Amino acid sequence: MRYHFVLNGYLQNCQKLMQEMKSFKETYLSAVEEGVTYLYCQSEETARQLNGRLTENARVLIAKEYVPEVVLKVLEELANPEDLYIFGSDYAGEELAVRLGARLGGSSLTSVSSIQIKNGTKAGIKAGKMVYSNHMEAIFRMKKGPYCISLAKGLTKAEPYPGQMYIAEVHNCYEYDAASYIIERSFEPVEQEESLEEAKVLIVAGRGIGKKEHIALLQELAERIGGQVGVSRPAAMNAWLPMNHLIGVSGAMTNPSVCITAGISGAAAFYAGIEKSKFIVAVNTDEHAPIMKNADVVIVEDFRPFIEALDKILEKS
Ligand SMILES: Cc1cc2nc3c(=O)[nH]c(=O)nc-3n(C[C@H](O)[C@H](O)[C@H](O)COP(=O)(O)OP(=O)(O)OC[C@H]3O[C@@H](n4cnc5c(N)ncnc54)[C@H](O)[C@@H]3O)c2cc1C
Repeated sequence: MRYHFVLNGYLQNCQKLMQEMKSFKETYLSAVEEGVTYLYCQSEETARQLNGRLTENARVLIAKEYVPEVVLKVLEELANPEDLYIFGSDYAGEELAVRLGARLGGSSLTSVSSIQIKNGTKAGIKAGKMVYSNHMEAIFRMKKGPYCISLAKGLTKAEPYPGQMYIAEVHNCYEYDAASYIIERSFEPVEQEESLEEAKVLIVAGRGIGKKEHIALLQELAERIGGQVGVSRPAAMNAWLPMNHLIGVSGAMTNPSVCITAGISGAAAFYAGIEKSKFIVAVNTDEHAPIMKNADVVIVEDFRPFIEALDKILEKS
């Protein structure tokens, strides 16, 4: 059995995925034979510009844009049924791991945080994944290869090995004809943000802030104090911020030094995402909201006067 990494080269933070993969490799795979890194990306140039490597050799899968279907087709042809395929913790990694496992009649598991491989594949593979809002690790036996896993978000990071991967093969994916259903396409550059999981100061907006326009108030405050803004599920569903700002079991699990919640009731599914905060300030008009029991400081007040007062203090200091 060999292990392979499958890396998303379309992402700006591809480097972060490599760091998580390297750490996973060093912790769990030292006794397993190394395979290759499959890098799916826009061009061979992208692969050559990658700073660092995970394995000696790489196979580059080139497609003008990321379409799961075209990447899967190549992976399907190249995959060995005995082998382990490790995908990144990004969205594409999750979907490709599951779909590849299903297509090839193997096993798949997402958000894997640990793995045990004993006596080759005969005993199967045991993979661990955090469950119950990160409170317990469940161990899953993966019985059939190929074994396709995606890594959990926020694993320990290690700098990839210096130098570049040797590009052993280049595969041009087939051209996907999207013209029949995509009417128009435009690209807007998005500024690369610090991930919410790494934020030291986090301000989270809930349904109680009332409308999208109020997010700007919290963003200004966050900028001033060097923080990030996240949202609860109702705020994300109202598109007040994109889904990658969602905090809670369905989104980011954070551990900031300070977390300020505004207009958040503190439901269990949300609270799991901030419970590792060192200090929680809750601003809510309802003194009986569940978040009030879990916060270090509670402010029973409309969130706006609170933000304004805080702004004034910061102006002075
Ligand atoms: C399987 C599952 C997964 C889920 N995953 C998540 C998840 O990952 N993240 C998540 O957030 N939710 C998740 N939920 C939903 C979760 O259960 C709650 O419904 C949600 O967190 C409530 O969001 P909220 O606190 O913004 O809204 P509400 O519960 O409606 O609370 C709004 C709060 O704002 C207060 N308020 C009103 N006006 C003001 C004001 N002017 N100033 C200050 N306070 C004010 C109110 O008193 C109230 O406490 C999940 C649910 C399920 C079933």
